[in-house]
Amino acid sequence: MADIIRLLPDHVANQIAAGEVVQRPASVVKELLENAIDASATEIKLIIKDGGKTLVQVVDNGVGMTETDARLSFERHATSKIQKAEDLFNLNTKGFRGEALASIAAIAHVEMMTRTEDEEIGTHIKIEGSTVTSQEVAVVPKGTSMLVKNLFFNIPARRNFLKSDQVELRHITDEFHRVALAHPNIAFSFYNNGGEVFNLPSDSFRKRIVHVFGRKTDEKLVPVEEETQVVKVTGFILKPEFAKRSRGEQFFFANNRFIKSPYLHHSVLGAFEGLTKQGTHPGYFLRLEVNPAAIDINIHPTKTEVKFDDEHTLYAILKSTVKHSLGQFNVVPVLDFEKDQNLDTPYNYKNKPVKVPEVSVDASFNPFVDVKPKTHSSPSNYTKTSAKGWERLYEGLEANPIHGNPNFQFESEMANSTIFENDADVKDTPSTTFQLRKKFIVTTIKSGMVVINQSRAHERVLYENFLKNITIKEAISQQLLFPLSLNFSTGDIKILKEIKENLSAVGFVFERIGEDGVEIKGVPVMVSESEVQMVMEQLISDFQMEIPGDSFSQSDILAKTLSKTLSVKTGEVLDEQSRMNLVNDLFACKETTLSPFNKPTYITITENDIERKFI
Ligand code: ADP
Ligand code: MG
Repeated sequence: MADIIRLLPDHVANQIAAGEVVQRPASVVKELLENAIDASATEIKLIIKDGGKTLVQVVDNGVGMTETDARLSFERHATSKIQKAEDLFNLNTKGFRGEALASIAAIAHVEMMTRTEDEEIGTHIKIEGSTVTSQEVAVVPKGTSMLVKNLFFNIPARRNFLKSDQVELRHITDEFHRVALAHPNIAFSFYNNGGEVFNLPSDSFRKRIVHVFGRKTDEKLVPVEEETQVVKVTGFILKPEFAKRSRGEQFFFANNRFIKSPYLHHSVLGAFEGLTKQGTHPGYFLRLEVNPAAIDINIHPTKTEVKFDDEHTLYAILKSTVKHSLGQFNVVPVLDFEKDQNLDTPYNYKNKPVKVPEVSVDASFNPFVDVKPKTHSSPSNYTKTSAKGWERLYEGLEANPIHGNPNFQFESEMANSTIFENDADVKDTPSTTFQLRKKFIVTTIKSGMVVINQSRAHERVLYENFLKNITIKEAISQQLLFPLSLNFSTGDIKILKEIKENLSAVGFVFERIGEDGVEIKGVPVMVSESEVQMVMEQLISDFQMEIPGDSFSQSDILAKTLSKTLSVKTGEVLDEQSRMNLVNDLFACKETTLSPFNKPTYITITENDIERKFI
């Protein structure tokens, strides 16, 4: 037979990559704004026509590009932002993949005008569907202007998929809000179909919020501030009485980057518990600063998803910090003296004077200050040590008929017999595993030892399990005593309807899907009632980001989201049985080496490797 494999031409590869980076005009807006910020611009102008379908233009006064760089910037993997893989762990820029411009140029008519400070004459390049149609010298101001016209002109299917101009404008505005809020020190303006929508001067974070959301916002804001060894939290929450029916004014920024995190969102909701009306969503604008090495923004191509090394600690800190602000600013109507276990977690009171409560009733008395100051120096001391919640996840797996499936068993034994010394070693002597820094499980194998990343391994196990459930439609669901009502926007409901069938396949049972909410009467065994809202929100946000092309990718996204949301996290203590279960389940998977997000699940260290260290 003749050879049949061939390399895809660049423009085809770029078009395929574009599918990941560019979903709609708002994605172009995000990429161009981020490039302008990375170019140290102090003034950025966004110009839109027809919901961005006809034109998206971003003009900046940043560093600009030389003629060669201007041309190179449209090549795939062309980036000035990283040079070696290690740079990924210390990122201070928004971009780093070098994919955005190549992708955009593959699916639109693009024009770039750019000039650096040192040069008098700049460059003007035109590209259509990855082909450079003209390149000239030009007299242009310092900085860069990027015009993206006729998005998806060469992919009619994608173009037809775009929503009305109004809906696309809504997405663009959301994106603009996020970027403008993340960078209050940069002046932004925004024009739609010739009219000015925003003109935001460089200002403080508070003023920026007020400029974006209107003058009345000012009196609704309550400051939040806390600094611990793990994270610095600053920003504002909206007073509980201004919580809204629709979601929208909820912003997390991690190291000046807008992020989505249903998990951290849940922690803020926890702090507001009992203060907001049922069915309303409290507003917040919270900036988190963490060590760039402790945050993985690489997990999603469009980079709103992040993974923090120690999410559990962040969760606890955030919850107590927000509570503290609510208390301190007298926003809490009745003080709640019930001890909150989250207050046992890391508060750095060392530098704060301890306020002694007075005998007379003092309206500004703050119950949180009375908590004993912690003197832990290592962040890892902070974590709760209960493994209970985690074991529960496994009860589900055990109860699952798939695990009784003879094929599955067979694979599991095969895996064990090749990698582990012997079955007995793995199954009967649980003490052969131990946990390292609440992050890794270490165990012995024939040739040495294996170090398993607990969170990624569990993601893999859950992912395969969910995918199987979706395929064979035999998931076990647990009935809720009372149906759970959750409110969603019309857009969210639409997404839920689209994925309803697969949700049922994994064990969600819907009593009713209405216009603005759903009633759920059954959930997968691995999901607890209190997690349902968080899981649903994560699913909706993932499906918003990634428009599935077919039913397989829908199942895949669903399984990925569930595995990410429900997996055991770094920082959780696992008892012997849980560790053993996880090791066995991982090596019974079809793919053992990678997490669903293509990260290694474990590494092996051979006896030889160890011997060599002793030389
Ligand atoms: P990335 O941002 O991931 O590096 P992009 O495809 O978005 O990749 O951009 C490629 C390169 O082009 C950037 O690394 C940067 O050097 C240059 N570039 C893009 N936009 C601008 C801009 N507005 N000003 C200056 N340089 C830019
Ligand atoms: Mg970029």
